Amino acid sequence: MNITIQPEAIVSLRGFEMPERLGFGTVMAPVMFRARYQDGRWSDGELIPYGPLSLDPAAKVLHYAQSCFEGLKAYRYGDGVGLFRPERNAARMAHSARRLCMPPVPESLFMDAARTVASHCATLIPGNSGESLYLRPFLMGTQPDLSVTASKAYEFYVIASPSEAYHAGNMRLWVEREDSRAAVGGTGDAKVGGNYAASLLSIAGLKERGYDQSLWLNPGNRHTVDELSGMNFFAVMDGALHTPALNGSILEGVTRDSMLALAREQGLEVHEREIDIDDLLALVASGTCSEAFACGTAAIVSPISELGDGDQRYRLQQAPGPVAELLRRSLLDIQEGRAEDRFGWMQKV
Ligand code: PMP
Repeated sequence: MNITIQPEAIVSLRGFEMPERLGFGTVMAPVMFRARYQDGRWSDGELIPYGPLSLDPAAKVLHYAQSCFEGLKAYRYGDGVGLFRPERNAARMAHSARRLCMPPVPESLFMDAARTVASHCATLIPGNSGESLYLRPFLMGTQPDLSVTASKAYEFYVIASPSEAYHAGNMRLWVEREDSRAAVGGTGDAKVGGNYAASLLSIAGLKERGYDQSLWLNPGNRHTVDELSGMNFFAVMDGALHTPALNGSILEGVTRDSMLALAREQGLEVHEREIDIDDLLALVASGTCSEAFACGTAAIVSPISELGDGDQRYRLQQAPGPVAELLRRSLLDIQEGRAEDRFGWMQKV
């Protein structure tokens, strides 16, 4: 695959001034990657200046939500830039694309795109611990046609955001017993915008009620824990680590998989299983479940301090707890090059 670097992209990079405050995902790098799919073929890729897209108002994505996305981070790594397990994001994006009847972005195209953006934006990667360049690849159906059929044309982009560490703080979760974010047999294990849109109403009124995020239950049985809107769920019970097994409605988090590997390496007992919500609440109330946390690319690990169910509140004894702290530190040490990359997770660009 050839990649063209448009001269205007270099001009945009030269003229870019980093704002003092970055936040998370709010400042956009001045360049982006684009490739197009038409007539069964991918075009060459190009690095172009960041800017608004031109879309036909009848583009399929705007009506039938034919789009999926990814999120991964580039870190300062040694004397260069390192991507954390990007091949896992490439594979997950291919899975999401297939679920929505879109052509998967080939792994080589995905990797070239991520590397091109990360290497050209290397000087924009902030250097304090926890800071990174957050990459957001996305794919969408652009064919202008209102029939409910798969688009014949697609565009793939990677935009990037120099970001500070994302601190979700101690989270209070609301056990969501009414709404579902995704249906059984639907798109729960795909990273598609509709899942996030479906989660917003539940989250909207939470702050006034003293909660931060919804804890989603399995949409099929309504009594086992799935995940949060953008993170996977873990609980520590009697010193062992428990997380819901992948069941088709949970997104297979890259951080989740990394937590499991690190926990096993530390000799912790690890269980991927169905977690009944009523059992979990009873174990929190009795103190057997001392610690719970959520994990994802953005925040890495966020402790959970409370679970709310109806008018009952269940407080976790330790937030942050020692297991969350240990796993967070172990992962960041690898991502930021302080510890040996013994799992082969970092890819230098
Ligand atoms: N679940 C959902 C629904 C998510 O959006 C995310 C964020 N991608 C995760 C879990 C965590 O996945 P990852 O560790 O790959 O960021």
